[in-house]
Amino acid sequence: MADDRTDNHNPNIVSDVAEAGGCGLKNLATGATCGLTARHAGPCDFMAPHAVPEALREKGIDLQSDEQ
Ligand SMILES: [Zn+2]
Repeated sequence: MADDRTDNHNPNIVSDVAEAGGCGLKNLATGATCGLTARHAGPCDFMAPHAVPEALREKGIDLQSDEQ
């Protein structure tokens, strides 16, 4: 477990998204958040934060498991 430096504590990362398996990178200038999966290829796909859970759900990641 040498990779202990996760991005989860980085203020540029939305921890809820990152912990669920998403990229979670947040553009601090706009507040937009990446809706792609962790370690995705290519550039981030920044979108409004409220759109991220739906985008990730399409990729098989459920950010709100307590919401059916
Ligand atoms: Zn990204």
